[in-house]
Amino acid sequence: KGPLRLAAASKVWLQHQQSPSREIVARTSYLHLSRQEVMEDILDLDVAVTRSDDFLLYASGGRLPPGSAPLAHRYGGHQFGYWAGQLGDGRAHSLGQYTNRKGEVWELQLKGSGKTPYSRSGDGRAVIRSSVREFLGSEAMHFLGVPTSRAASLIVSDEPVMRDQFYDGNVKTERGAVVLRLANSWFRIGSLEILSQSGEIDLLRKLLTFVIAEHFPSIHPDDPDKYLAFYSTVVNETAHLIARWTSVGFAHGVCNTDNFSLLSVTLDYGPFGFVESYSPRFVPNTSDDEGRYAIGAQADAALFNLEKLATALGPVLPGKQQSEARDILKGYVDIYHKRTHRLFKAKLGLLGEEEDDGSLIAFLLKMMEETHSDFTMTFRQLSEVSFQQLLNRNFTQLWALEDLSSHNLFPDWLSMYRLRLLRQPNDGDLERQQRMKNENPRYVLRNWMAQSAISKAEKNDFSEVELLHHILSFPFITQEVAEKAGYAQRPPSWAKRLKVSCSS
Ligand code: AMP
Ligand code: MG
Ligand code: MG
Repeated sequence: KGPLRLAAASKVWLQHQQSPSREIVARTSYLHLSRQEVMEDILDLDVAVTRSDDFLLYASGGRLPPGSAPLAHRYGGHQFGYWAGQLGDGRAHSLGQYTNRKGEVWELQLKGSGKTPYSRSGDGRAVIRSSVREFLGSEAMHFLGVPTSRAASLIVSDEPVMRDQFYDGNVKTERGAVVLRLANSWFRIGSLEILSQSGEIDLLRKLLTFVIAEHFPSIHPDDPDKYLAFYSTVVNETAHLIARWTSVGFAHGVCNTDNFSLLSVTLDYGPFGFVESYSPRFVPNTSDDEGRYAIGAQADAALFNLEKLATALGPVLPGKQQSEARDILKGYVDIYHKRTHRLFKAKLGLLGEEEDDGSLIAFLLKMMEETHSDFTMTFRQLSEVSFQQLLNRNFTQLWALEDLSSHNLFPDWLSMYRLRLLRQPNDGDLERQQRMKNENPRYVLRNWMAQSAISKAEKNDFSEVELLHHILSFPFITQEVAEKAGYAQRPPSWAKRLKVSCSS
């Protein structure tokens, strides 16, 4: 439907760099899944079209859509605390920007579509398991209400791809896959860092001017403080994003500056995970030995990244504005805490504000941690019981609450919670439950669920990927098929042995 425009990056870079994109490889792709909502609502495409062989070619990189000028973003990044130089993008091709009938601008990327000039020693590919995870994970986050990139389609091929899945020296042949993914912009903190670090200051200014004009319409291009206003917005929105992650128990796994979006959307789904037995020390990525990116450390990781963004902006900020940027950053912790507090209050169905609300939330989380209670289901089951049932400890089927209530201080917490709720005027127990059910999902993409779907997908059975794809589009609504599949049950014992690493 209509030609693509040049991808955002190309407008800035084509004049400056020769031939950014080297190859997009056509392969024997024979299976695909597409997301109807994304196709229709974002790409204005009829689903019937997406079932055609032509579409398969476009979505796997075998053929370029009209108007497309494919390219690879050049960016660097701080990885696990250290400047790692130029990193990518080593395996994503931007196809172009599409302006849909609603006037929204989306940049289309193929991930896993082959080598780019930035592939370093990599093969530019992605394997089925990581592609299924990105495909399901990003869509699941969208339907949880968290800002994120989207996934339009998943193409699987027979192309052999070699990976050392757990970095243990055991190289295995897997199969390649390509995800067609969409975001309003794919620029990251690392996109600015690379220019700043290599002294390409004119280009840095040019890219900033472009990003601000395209994505920050409230900032006037002639505003002498425009870079500060930009920085302030990124600080604010990033704090909000991390608070959303915390509130749904999402751990990104690789919070490097190259994975942090300038538009503050969740990007680059790798070894992410949703915390089950609650602990702030939950680390989804087995390659992260030190727990640098544990779920409870993400807010600090983001602070580190925002500090690196300020440093990257240094060359275009006069001295006075540099210290102002540092002052803006000082506000981050407070924004994050206020936002998280509001979200957790909503998870507990609390209205208004009382002095002890913070303690009530912290007390609950501490009990959850000490009883290894499931994060998602504790909040969900609190939303599904009547208060009388809670008081009677009638926890048949309510396995997460059963775990929680084994804590010796549970009765104390419960009476504190009860009194707090009783002080809410014009609030009934059913209203509380309904409010809470809209905040606390019943289904998240647990590792074991993804793994079970991946094992089948690797044998060309995509039924479970499709099932999850559908169920996770309605995470707040109890669904019979999901219940049958055990998605709201205690995770199976084999789930404990699952590992996810950076290998993808
Ligand atoms: P990540 O840690 O997944 O964010 O990856 C860091 C960088 O490595 C990204 O810029 C990727 O494009 C690049 N990369 C990851 N896997 C590959 C691969 N198989 N081939 C080329 N580049 C890759
Ligand atoms: Mg990345
Ligand atoms: Mg990655």
